[in-house]
Amino acid sequence: MNNVELDGLLNDEVIIVIGAGTMGHGIAGQAARCGATVRIFDANAESLTRGEAQINSIYQKAIVKNKMSELEVSESLSRITYIAPTHPEALTRSCVDATIVIEAAPERLELKQSIFKEVEAVVSKHTLLASNTSSLSIDKIAMVLDHPERFIGMHFFNPVAVMPLLEIVRGSLTSEAVIDRTRAIGEALLKTPIVVKDAPGFATSRLGIALGNEAMRIFEEGVASAEDIDRAMVLGYRHPIGPLALTDLVGLDVRLAISEYLYSELGTDTFKPPQVLKDKVASGQLGKKSGSGFYEY
Ligand code: NAD
Repeated sequence: MNNVELDGLLNDEVIIVIGAGTMGHGIAGQAARCGATVRIFDANAESLTRGEAQINSIYQKAIVKNKMSELEVSESLSRITYIAPTHPEALTRSCVDATIVIEAAPERLELKQSIFKEVEAVVSKHTLLASNTSSLSIDKIAMVLDHPERFIGMHFFNPVAVMPLLEIVRGSLTSEAVIDRTRAIGEALLKTPIVVKDAPGFATSRLGIALGNEAMRIFEEGVASAEDIDRAMVLGYRHPIGPLALTDLVGLDVRLAISEYLYSELGTDTFKPPQVLKDKVASGQLGKKSGSGFYEY
């Protein structure tokens, strides 16, 4: 989290974050910290509670590191409302006055389409609709919308409070005004935006999955240990974290879903999910969030 003066650009924004998992809680915490009114919804009450605890923990760490004052933390916390799935209309009711909706639900096309269809029915036609998808087609998600011109990809990175990049993905129908607005929102969230065309895995995930999958195949073939494969990239290539440690951080299930999608779209063997990834996900080893992956936590 950068320790900078915030210029209040987001003070008039009402941001709804859908999904309180690895990414959703990070996006919500960052948006509230930057002045927006935030509502965060999760279809699973336990995930919502966990997300709330994680936002508190991010803010407490920011106090310790002198990145936020106690006052900033209490003001930021007061801007966040947690929307539990107590009622079938809990999400849509909380969206009515939204200026921005950012979805961070699991990486499944039909799920994202159904969420946006439901949300679009209640929001103003000026509400910006954004998905944090890592790989799925922005145009395919937007196919179900009446106003696809206000739909865009806002791809944040994990952990959101720390990672400076925002990959903005323009669909073929996204308007220039929406791209400009998203760029301004990204900057107000203290991120550095890049704008890329809608293509499987965009610029980031396509490269990240290619590296991660090869690292897993090297591991499977017994060429080197997980620790040494990661050391190779950290010490030899100046990566801040190795590809297997990064896979654990992202979530093996999330990586598998992206890899399967990229393989189906791009067809090259680079994206074929490695057997070790499939086996670990099947046995519940999802990385840091489950306590084990390529490493134990
Ligand atoms: P996650 O599994 O940690 O969290 C997803 C959350 O969505 C869960 O809490 C789940 O209960 C909730 N959910 C499921 N169905 C829902 C619904 N219908 N409505 C509302 N909430 C629902 O996943 P994540 O890692 O946060 O990934 C979310 C999205 O962000 C995915 O599209 C993923 O590809 C993308 N992404 C992930 C990372 C990463 O490092 N994990 C990075 C960038 C982008």
